[in-house]
Amino acid sequence: MARFTLTCCECGARHDERTVRYVCPACAALQEPGGPTRGVLRVELSDLPSRWPEGPMHAPEALAHWLPVASPEHLPPLPVGGTPLFAAPRLRTELGMPHLWVKDDTRNPSGSTKDRASQLVVAKAVEYGCDTIVAASTGNAATALSCLAAAAGLRAVVFVPASAPPAKLVQMASYGARLVPVDGSYDQAFELSLLASARFGWYNRNTAYNPFTVEGKKTAALEIAAALHAAPPDVVVVPTGDGVIVSGVAKGFADLERAGLIARRPRLLVVQPEGSGAIARALRSGTASITPEPGAASVADSLVVGAPRNAILALQEVRASGGAGVLVSDDAILDAIGRLARATGVFAEPAAAAALAGLLVAVEDGLVERHERVVLLVTGTGLKDVAAAARRVSIPLPVPPVPSSLSSLLPPS
Ligand SMILES: [Zn+2]
Repeated sequence: MARFTLTCCECGARHDERTVRYVCPACAALQEPGGPTRGVLRVELSDLPSRWPEGPMHAPEALAHWLPVASPEHLPPLPVGGTPLFAAPRLRTELGMPHLWVKDDTRNPSGSTKDRASQLVVAKAVEYGCDTIVAASTGNAATALSCLAAAAGLRAVVFVPASAPPAKLVQMASYGARLVPVDGSYDQAFELSLLASARFGWYNRNTAYNPFTVEGKKTAALEIAAALHAAPPDVVVVPTGDGVIVSGVAKGFADLERAGLIARRPRLLVVQPEGSGAIARALRSGTASITPEPGAASVADSLVVGAPRNAILALQEVRASGGAGVLVSDDAILDAIGRLARATGVFAEPAAAAALAGLLVAVEDGLVERHERVVLLVTGTGLKDVAAAARRVSIPLPVPPVPSSLSSLLPPS
């Protein structure tokens, strides 16, 4: 089915998957310790469909035309994507934004956008005949890999900071992954997983290092565009850590434009926490590359990374879209969890609620106009980190199960 090459986002060299699986060898030779990944490869499909699929975009038969897989049968037997894009009327009214949509990616099988990347990576592992896939992750990518590998009957080995929210660790272990909590940062877990991959020959799903992680996430953009193709969005708001989701969304819109199915691409708005904002800061200051932020920290654990691995490609893509970056405080992120939940019914983890916090900043700064067509990409469920959400709510004390207890529930007359 889909034929493709792998093109280096730095030097433009083209590679074949039969000889290069991860990064451009020439650019990878320039890799600096603690820096963004060099030589990230972009998938270039030879032929793109010239029309929208007749069925859903997330159906394996449709995906096999849009993703670099040899057969739809290689995709794991677990539905991914097809998540709702809805108008959120109460949030529209509250913000005075009449053309705002929520793309609720919390409804993916493991509860996050990362399932889109893992779906494709697992399919490629099947094609390559690999039975073990290894990944480092702040939490969601490893959970997604554990989930999709389980569905396909492959083995997952996941390196995760021991400080990841317990729900994520429990989720990975429940899927049967070999869980390796690392007493260190995500950046350190990343390096350890690369060593494991080299030593044991395991297929590596590390974000950006494996080119199919960016490519897999483009399905979010394909679905948004398919739903709104009569009038595509002006802006898509993307919570950002390593910069892979935003690059994947950019790739999806770029492919649709190349296929002639959309006339223009939306601007991409990168949202990062103040405590972990290397990509957003580079976008704001106009610098060509990021300045790593060792010791990065935020309540939005999924976005915490000292050296965003996909910074080089992400900066290119966001700038090409005419987009921008904003920084949000942890307080604003925690506030946004409740605000999003109350106004839309979507319960998001801190990283995902950051999309709403970032939109508020962007409107304030004049980066987004209230009349524009805007999509908030909500990337992970709040059930992954209830401790964070609990910081903004109070659970009432129990009442005795007697009728007189009801009197305290009535408003004072
Ligand atoms: Zn290169």
